Amino acid sequence: MTVTTSAGTWLRDFQDALTERDVDRAAAMFGPGCFWRDLVAFSWNIVTVEGQDGVADLLRSTLESADPTGFRITEVPTEADGVTEAWLEFETAVGRGSGYLRLRDGRAWTLLTTLEELTGYEEPLSERRPKGVAHGAYRDRRTWLEGRESEAAELGYTRQPEVVIVGGGQGGIALAARLRQLGVPTIVVERNERPGDSWRKRYKSLALHDPVWYDHLPYLDFPKNWPVFSPKDKIGDWLEMYAKVMELNYWGSTVARSASYDEVSGTWELVVERAGEPITLRPRQLVLALGVSGRPNIPEIPGRQRFRGDQHHSSQHPGPDAYAGRRAVVIGSNNSAHDVCAALWEAGAEVTMVQRSSTHIVRSESLMESLADLYSEQAVAAGMTTWKADMVFASLPYRLLPEVQKPVYDAIRERDADYYARLEKAGFELDFGDDGSGLFMKYLRRGSGYYIDVGAAGLVADGSIALARGQVVEITETAAVLADGTALEADLIVYATGYGSMNRLAAGILGEQVADRVGKVWGLGSDTTRDPGPWEGEERNMWKPTRQPGLWFHGGNLHQSRYYSRYLSLQLKARAEGIPTPVYALAEVHHTD
Ligand SMILES: Cc1cc2nc3c(=O)[nH]c(=O)nc-3n(C[C@H](O)[C@H](O)[C@H](O)COP(=O)(O)OP(=O)(O)OC[C@H]3O[C@@H](n4cnc5c(N)ncnc54)[C@H](O)[C@@H]3O)c2cc1C
Repeated sequence: MTVTTSAGTWLRDFQDALTERDVDRAAAMFGPGCFWRDLVAFSWNIVTVEGQDGVADLLRSTLESADPTGFRITEVPTEADGVTEAWLEFETAVGRGSGYLRLRDGRAWTLLTTLEELTGYEEPLSERRPKGVAHGAYRDRRTWLEGRESEAAELGYTRQPEVVIVGGGQGGIALAARLRQLGVPTIVVERNERPGDSWRKRYKSLALHDPVWYDHLPYLDFPKNWPVFSPKDKIGDWLEMYAKVMELNYWGSTVARSASYDEVSGTWELVVERAGEPITLRPRQLVLALGVSGRPNIPEIPGRQRFRGDQHHSSQHPGPDAYAGRRAVVIGSNNSAHDVCAALWEAGAEVTMVQRSSTHIVRSESLMESLADLYSEQAVAAGMTTWKADMVFASLPYRLLPEVQKPVYDAIRERDADYYARLEKAGFELDFGDDGSGLFMKYLRRGSGYYIDVGAAGLVADGSIALARGQVVEITETAAVLADGTALEADLIVYATGYGSMNRLAAGILGEQVADRVGKVWGLGSDTTRDPGPWEGEERNMWKPTRQPGLWFHGGNLHQSRYYSRYLSLQLKARAEGIPTPVYALAEVHHTD
């Protein structure tokens, strides 16, 4: 049997079983150790089920309402190492879906199904693009600008938005762009003055660590001359331009103060302060896009108040210029710590990094190579599109990812052995994640604990940046003191000590009760450091229904903001149009913080 017929036959048989509502037959078409990841198409949720029992459970709950039809392959499948891979399409009762299938020994190993659009509510793209002008002669003609101005004057004042997104970083902006295309009236509320400020206000030397191919926003790719690694102010400008051309209703200088949900009317009462003026918004859907990082975390170290030099969290670090020739102590050893240390060293400061616990380090070049099949110039040349790369990326269930990542990091560890040996010789404590699965899993599980080396590690290895190990237990007038009594004399202390949980940030707006009802945000339940079990299979609370009706979380790196905003926007659009959205397997809450 050819690869094409095996995948084609599998999909046809699968469709037959679904049409006959024969759940057991459909589940038996999956092999042992199988996974089905569904993004909204069947489940109105973001969910991965495991094993034949999981498949059967998903189908029993969703088959009737999803009413899937037309499962088919869309291009010639590929085969390697006994695994056949195929792109697919299908329709549901309310929309069109896509997917990716891996077959092993004639049965499904992994299946990804995604809802791509809602029938009757397709985005006005390409052949459906708006005309932009009504040719002819009309009295009282309203220009595009007049339309935009009256929308800006009305929305939130005389007309309520369907959706309010709190947080206008890249996450809020990408989601708002999609909702605009779907015709869902939306306001983005952002504390900073201008789109892009969340990047502009970070430390001066910051450039994106992810390469350009990974970072495109929906609808509008970066141009071909865009740098591989965007400097932070450049990405800020891009976001500002994007918010403008995507016609977002972006309320800068606006702070969300409090939100309460009225169960009876199904609306939020969201109090915001816009340029000092309190305004109450009443959306049906509230999205918190407050960032991955939450509130800056500054440890309570005795004596902090009496320090006579400058001290601040890394997120407030103004940059190195004022510290040439002065002594800087940077507490922390992850991304921000390394970036801040390197910039201070470049400016001529005498820098000490304090490492408390082990850190995962990977060279930027090595990381880029690990992404190259999907996100690189070679991938583009080979015909890879952003959508396809995102789909392939999404098709690997989180449960399998560590096994996929471990050999990648084993190879990196071997190839960069000298590099790592130099760091260890300098006293730097390295790790590769609890199970050796490296950077990406650390990001997904806990969002911290790593540095993508763009130059600082070399300075640590050769002693240009001094390294101190241990816990800072006291701050004196002039020094940070370690547990072993070492006093690190300083004119500047930077706390590169990370960020608090998203829940506490959300609680500041929603109140503790709602925040606890919703539970922990981010993490997979991997039972590794800072990601307590039980296993959940998907990022907690992200881009999917939560235990609080009408409340959603969105955000992540640029890739996540781009990809998952599609599925969140479709969930919001369906609700706005009154399309039934029966949610399968709403996640349990196991942790509140
Ligand atoms: C040092 C550093 C380097 C990073 N490097 C990369 C990288 O290379 N690539 C990448 O993709 N990501 C990177 N990230 C991660 C980055 O934070 C996130 O990817 C990104 O900023 C998340 O976007 P977001 O829209 O979810 O959140 P943010 O950009 O953090 O936006 C959240 C917004 O919410 C606003 N806000 C918060 N509370 C309120 C309120 N009550 N009312 C109104 N507004 C509010 C904030 O002002 C903020 O603008 C980095 C992060 C840091 C800290």
